Amino acid sequence: MLGRLTRYLRFVGLDTAYARGLTDHEVATWARTEGRFLLTRDRALAGQVEASLLLHSAALVDQWRAVRRRFPDLPTEVRFDRCTICNGVLTPHRPSGDRPLPAGTPEERVRAGLPLFKCQACGHLYWEGSHTADVRARLHAWTAGPIE
Ligand SMILES: [Zn+2]
Repeated sequence: MLGRLTRYLRFVGLDTAYARGLTDHEVATWARTEGRFLLTRDRALAGQVEASLLLHSAALVDQWRAVRRRFPDLPTEVRFDRCTICNGVLTPHRPSGDRPLPAGTPEERVRAGLPLFKCQACGHLYWEGSHTADVRARLHAWTAGPIE
């Protein structure tokens, strides 16, 4: 239900797990066992976990602002710390000259010194690009708005 919000929380470097295919009870147990704070749009589930926030809106910007109201120190800068796909840890990646980079990687810019970051879990590569700029602009716009 909160897949897009999950990606944005990972963009700012937060360790953000995403529950898929679990019952409410399993999610509640998982959150408690791992000491995680639960974000959910499910009122019944929120009622089962003390450390939780019920999000009312389906709109990403409203969800982001609701999380910021709860956590005023929420990071708002894009960091290359977490894989937005799987939550794995990213580390700087230096491509070896003889191995081709995956399709879509900006090879010329990488050879000119553009840093790459690699997910230690799924291998996905990240770099500063137009997508990152879009995400950063969105985060700044949301952060500039009122927390209410
Ligand atoms: Zn990954």
